[in-house]
Amino acid sequence: MRIAINEALCSGHGRCYVLAPEVYTADDEGFVVQRGTEFDVPAELEEKARIGLEACPEGCISIVG
Ligand code: SF4
Repeated sequence: MRIAINEALCSGHGRCYVLAPEVYTADDEGFVVQRGTEFDVPAELEEKARIGLEACPEGCISIVG
């Protein structure tokens, strides 16, 4: 699975990295470090990645591959 995080939409709610810290990481300002990037998620963390995606109130996390 490949995940993309829209940098412009990320508002730093932190729900993604609170619920799925194995996939998403906070930066010093409370935004997700991976905003504005695409990255591969290993098969064993795909469920976690989906939990974070569904919890994001801004809809900025998407599956791109
Ligand atoms: S839950 Fe969404 S808005 Fe909040 S930090 Fe994560 S990606 Fe950004």
